[in-house]
Amino acid sequence: MSHTDVIISECGPRDGLQSISQVMATADKLRWIDALYAAGLREIEVTSFVPAKLLPQMADAAEVVRHARTLPGLKVLGLVPNLRGAEAAIAAGVHVLTIPVSASEAHSLANVRKTPAEMVEEVKRIVALRDAQAPEIGIEANISTAFGCTLQGVVPEDDVIRLASQLTEAGANETGLSDTVGYANPAQVTRLFTRAFAEIGSKTGAAHMHNTRGLGIANCLAAYEAGVRTFDSSLCGLGGCPYAPGASGNVVTEDLVFMFEAMGLSTGIDLARLIAAREAVIAGLPGVEVYGMTAEAGLPKGFEQAHHG
Ligand code: ZN
Repeated sequence: MSHTDVIISECGPRDGLQSISQVMATADKLRWIDALYAAGLREIEVTSFVPAKLLPQMADAAEVVRHARTLPGLKVLGLVPNLRGAEAAIAAGVHVLTIPVSASEAHSLANVRKTPAEMVEEVKRIVALRDAQAPEIGIEANISTAFGCTLQGVVPEDDVIRLASQLTEAGANETGLSDTVGYANPAQVTRLFTRAFAEIGSKTGAAHMHNTRGLGIANCLAAYEAGVRTFDSSLCGLGGCPYAPGASGNVVTEDLVFMFEAMGLSTGIDLARLIAAREAVIAGLPGVEVYGMTAEAGLPKGFEQAHHG
């Protein structure tokens, strides 16, 4: 993979779909992933390894991973909430396991029926499994509700930083901060990521921002200025959280790529192809609400990207 200034990690096929009741056909998911890849994305969270009775949307997880692995140079991420999910994801062949760990006890119990402390123990078991079976696989823990929680309200920053430190000690290769419900503001993002870098250094992972209150892009810029270089986002801004009432909309990949490219920072992504990739979502999820101001307005006259795919 050629060098880029920032990494855009697409989470639509996971985060985007989990909040939608409509089940997307496997063939449509594969077309969507192919379109993202063709636009230049080289990191995609393609699915989630959860029981099909809880999330029928993800029943085809192994098949989706198998297909994604055929795309050269693509880093294939799969979400796992527990050890059983990790076993399935390793068997399917993901390159990276992503584990959501909530800083809010209320959200953690609602989401995975475990306290944050119990989740740290689960991460240790997943790390042990990885070390024994597939040491080449990466483990990224992502602290959900790091900036606030619809159930608990305020999430103390000390709790988030302590959890980041515990997850790093548990063996996570990276730990990111997620604004699962769209409560974050740029000052808070700067503060928390600055503290994370001070606590766990280069093991600080991605910024995962939601656009629920329109601050997603501003929060990504704040995270960039604090030193973050990997950003989760979703084509068409799909996304939310089934266990966080009122959460909606990941940061729109098209708008995020536009911001970085307009600033002269390379993403490796071709914006025109990225905007064209929206057709795969619209065709695969008829009637679903899609977002994105760059796609709506078009690229500015004379806009040129310095780098392509
Ligand atoms: Zn999310």
